[in-house]
Amino acid sequence: MMLGFLLARAGVKVAVLEKHADFLRDFRGDTIHPSTLELMVQLGLIDDFLKLPHSQVQRLSGQVGATTIHLADFSHLPTHCKFIALMPQWDFLDFLAAHGKKYPTFDLHMRTEATDLIEEGGRVVGVKAKTPDGDLDIRADLVVGCDGRHSTMRERAGFAVESLGAPMDILWFRASRHDADSAEAFGHMEAGVMLVMLNRNDYWQCAYVIPKGGYEAIKAKGFQAFIDNVLFMSPFLRNRIGEVKGWDDVKLLTVAVDRLPRWHKPGLLLIGDAAHAMSPIGGVGINLAIQDAVAAANILAAPLKQGRVTEALLAEVQARRTMPMRVIQWLQLQIQNRVLSPVLGGTTRPKPPAAAKLFNLFPVLQRIPARIIGLGVRPEHIETPEAPR
Ligand SMILES: Cc1cc2nc3c(=O)[nH]c(=O)nc-3n(C[C@H](O)[C@H](O)[C@H](O)COP(=O)(O)OP(=O)(O)OC[C@H]3O[C@@H](n4cnc5c(N)ncnc54)[C@H](O)[C@@H]3O)c2cc1C
Repeated sequence: MMLGFLLARAGVKVAVLEKHADFLRDFRGDTIHPSTLELMVQLGLIDDFLKLPHSQVQRLSGQVGATTIHLADFSHLPTHCKFIALMPQWDFLDFLAAHGKKYPTFDLHMRTEATDLIEEGGRVVGVKAKTPDGDLDIRADLVVGCDGRHSTMRERAGFAVESLGAPMDILWFRASRHDADSAEAFGHMEAGVMLVMLNRNDYWQCAYVIPKGGYEAIKAKGFQAFIDNVLFMSPFLRNRIGEVKGWDDVKLLTVAVDRLPRWHKPGLLLIGDAAHAMSPIGGVGINLAIQDAVAAANILAAPLKQGRVTEALLAEVQARRTMPMRVIQWLQLQIQNRVLSPVLGGTTRPKPPAAAKLFNLFPVLQRIPARIIGLGVRPEHIETPEAPR
């Protein structure tokens, strides 16, 4: 959506395909980081953006066993917005779509599922798509696969995938949020389990982190045992946990971390999770996908307008975004393997690593994770001009 918006804004004719009828997917993350907010500032959209319902998180804390660790403090970032905006992703996507539609070259096709690539003479020249009105061929100078971690485009292109493994899956459910509750996002680790709660204003979106493949074992222990564990982690949910009535109210989300050695072939580029599926750790995935989109627009908008997109330019997009993606995935894997795996596999109450306690002792250290999480590595800037309308 972001790439479609930026290309249309630069005067490139663009069709964005979305297989669903709306963006109301619960599994999407909600964390709009300062790097993305800064892009909204550069686009002149920040005032409108901040009018949408959202909450602002300036500090990230987590409870490991009995100890609370204050991990990140965004209030010192050199950005206009010194916080993470927690906003349901469907509101953000609707916002970008509405702004995209202001440009005559922006075309959003809902309920249009890309099912295959059209290739001619060794080059991708379009996609085949399924719509409620029948099948469709859409031809394009460039196809960009932004279809997430189960990407059809990457599969149809036959790209190799390097899987990096993830030790966890997530059980996703919601519970009402009351006025007296804290506004902060919240994470709590205990032996064998972790609960993260995201503030979506009138309800908590809860992520109950379990060992990979452990869902059946948890189900076998019974629904009440699951609820008891949730209440052990967040006792304040007791007066509303009855809203979660059974396993039908709990969705299993599988986590994958992987990347493609090559993101492109003639006429086709993959970005976002389709090129590098991110772990939910740090809530960085959306923001990294958006950074890919900005880099792709910066490099490709002018050549697309002139109809001369070479594979060398697609390689340039990958080259620009590989280092930032690798650094963040490396950090996610360190946290997965050194912190989450021992906690999820453990039977005794976890203690935070000694180094983590330094964040409490020396709050200035909280600025380092804030910078890595909030801005990432090599933050992108909007370089595409707005074409006259
Ligand atoms: C459980 C979980 C929680 C997460 N929480 C967070 C978080 O809080 N913050 C964060 O930043 N990241 C989070 N992430 C990571 C984040 O979701 C991804 O990194 C991010 O969504 C990637 O964005 P994307 O645009 O590449 O793909 P997606 O967000 O997956 O978007 C792909 C889009 O393409 C559509 N689509 C798919 N196939 C087709 C097709 N064939 N034709 C047409 N449309 C298609 C989909 O419907 C979807 O709208 C989480 C990941 C997981 C697994």
